[in-house]
Amino acid sequence: MTTVRVLSALVAATSLAQFDCVPPTTRLLADSYQVTALRFATAPSYPTRFLVAGADSTRRTPLAFTVCLIQGGDRVILMDAGFYRQKFIDRWKPENYVRPSEVLQANGVEPERVTDIVISHIHWDHLDGADLFPRARIWLQRAEFEHYTNDSGAVLDRAIDADDAKMLASLRAAGRVRLIDGDSVPIMPGITVFTGGKHTFASQYATVRSRLADGTVGTIVLASDNAYLYENLEQHRPITQSLDTLSNLRAQERMRRLASNPRLIVPGHDVAVFERFPKPGHGVAHIE
Ligand SMILES: [Zn+2]
Repeated sequence: MTTVRVLSALVAATSLAQFDCVPPTTRLLADSYQVTALRFATAPSYPTRFLVAGADSTRRTPLAFTVCLIQGGDRVILMDAGFYRQKFIDRWKPENYVRPSEVLQANGVEPERVTDIVISHIHWDHLDGADLFPRARIWLQRAEFEHYTNDSGAVLDRAIDADDAKMLASLRAAGRVRLIDGDSVPIMPGITVFTGGKHTFASQYATVRSRLADGTVGTIVLASDNAYLYENLEQHRPITQSLDTLSNLRAQERMRRLASNPRLIVPGHDVAVFERFPKPGHGVAHIE
């Protein structure tokens, strides 16, 4: 009898412990993600002075072209969409180019499974691939959209490519574009976007609540071109292509406050991302 009572008490205690544990764990998993940087092309030798303000004119840096895959719950999200139109490939002659949609497929994600694409800014190497993903909603700052184009797909500022402006207009007409109003806006559970980086008129960066290698949940910052390289972040140097250098530096400082750890800030074009996060390798980096 005593043994039975003790056993019952143990079972009850275990059940209670399980019950106590389950809700918070579930809650964490529901709004936390796995973030993976996928490299789809490389420019082997780019003048560093175009990336880091004040850099020596003799220095050159390889540029990685990447999209970030953010997976959690029933969402498959991309931060930026890369590029695929032939004119960009002809003009830039990138090495080891693979269409971003094919890079996703190689990593087990069919393009139609992408639910959302957060476009950091309207430059061709971030926006052009948006129509490779036929079911995705496109998230863009309203001020960015309105500064560069309109619902007719006009080019209002030449920083946007004419074909990409037309593509955005047709995605808008199809009801697939969500315009975001301003800074510090949570757009999905666990994902918030921020402005002020000033790479373009209203370029944005994002924080993502993520599962990390040590089993904890932390905040990753996807900087995109608001910080091209680790050198910008670590040497406190603004990006060269900025509409407001001071604003860019302030945004980079803010990224440091937002990230759980500075190592979790992912710059937009640094090949070292794939060295600092070497797993699983071959142009695929789990940010953890
Ligand atoms: Zn850019």
